[in-house]
Amino acid sequence: MTSDGSPGALRRTGPIETRFEKELRELLGPRVDFGVPLSKHTSLRVGGPADALARPQDLEELQALLGLCSKLGVEPVLLGGGFNLLVSDAGVAGVVVQLQALRELDADSEGRITAQAGTSHSRLVRFAAERGRSGLEFGVGIPGTVGGWVAMNAGIPSVEVKDVVERVDWIAPDAGGIRELPRADLDFSYRSLELPRGAAIVRAVFRTEPGEPAAIRAQMRELLARRRETQPVDQRSCGSVFKNPPGDQAGRLIEAADLKGSRRGEAAISQKHANFIETRGDATAADVLALIELARGEVARRFGIELETEVRFLGRSPGEPA
Ligand SMILES: Cc1cc2nc3c(=O)[nH]c(=O)nc-3n(C[C@H](O)[C@H](O)[C@H](O)COP(=O)(O)OP(=O)(O)OC[C@H]3O[C@@H](n4cnc5c(N)ncnc54)[C@H](O)[C@@H]3O)c2cc1C
Repeated sequence: MTSDGSPGALRRTGPIETRFEKELRELLGPRVDFGVPLSKHTSLRVGGPADALARPQDLEELQALLGLCSKLGVEPVLLGGGFNLLVSDAGVAGVVVQLQALRELDADSEGRITAQAGTSHSRLVRFAAERGRSGLEFGVGIPGTVGGWVAMNAGIPSVEVKDVVERVDWIAPDAGGIRELPRADLDFSYRSLELPRGAAIVRAVFRTEPGEPAAIRAQMRELLARRRETQPVDQRSCGSVFKNPPGDQAGRLIEAADLKGSRRGEAAISQKHANFIETRGDATAADVLALIELARGEVARRFGIELETEVRFLGRSPGEPA
């Protein structure tokens, strides 16, 4: 055990609390747990333990937590709904931070909707639809939280978060206070937003247009029906594993490489949509990684195209000491 607060210091090696555990407990009380299996917090249901899982109850507590991380040299890792994450079987060093308590949702008279980072996608799109506000329908089948949506620039081919977001507010461990960035100052790209390391998105403001609630609901139903037809939405997955390469589709390439149905352990490339990996039973991150490598290797070998992952990896490399 070290006393310098480095991530290694978080591992519980016996009954003695590390300095960082003690400080985390003092700050968060019951809102921090140690050695929590992240398989319970990801849609693939794989992943080893987080050294610490912290759930700050409000913005002040989040700021204090990030300050503590900065003081002790530990980089916080943000976790939303876990719908786009592949967590290492060896777990995650340091503090995983979940913002599920930040769930405020407001609409102003000009159609702006402000949502805190822990708000779920379903609550946000329903909130907009009920008020006859159009623009967020595309998110109906994209599971996650506002924080994860914005960090991923989530979307469908015709629209993504960057097209509807007006402002994003975030805190970084050493930035001192909340930064409010207008759309023009945000560096979005395909399934990504550039943020300082360890920054936590705390809220986003979305722009919406007036619409007929019945028409909005009809569009949402149509989008969901299309997903059910083409994607294995009733299986454990992380959505699209790979980004679509320019001018093509990752799913089409993997299918053309005859990989649909390929298995490694308890994970398989979906028969329904080749860009999805489904897990079951006691699947491991290693099973999923083996399929990712298989798909990447075969598509490169047969078509000369390098696929890039959309799913984000979190945690220790296998064999890295805890
Ligand atoms: C069945 C299914 C269908 C899907 N379809 C789509 C789709 O059509 N389009 C699409 O884009 N995605 C899709 N996804 C993927 C997923 O829904 C999105 O990526 C979503 O944005 C993930 O949100 P989350 O809250 O679960 O984020 P997580 O998976 O928890 O995290 C994703 C990334 O965001 C970061 N993050 C999370 N919260 C914060 C925060 N508050 N501050 C800073 N960083 C943060 C994390 O550190 C991580 O890097 C699908 C997933 C599934 C399972």
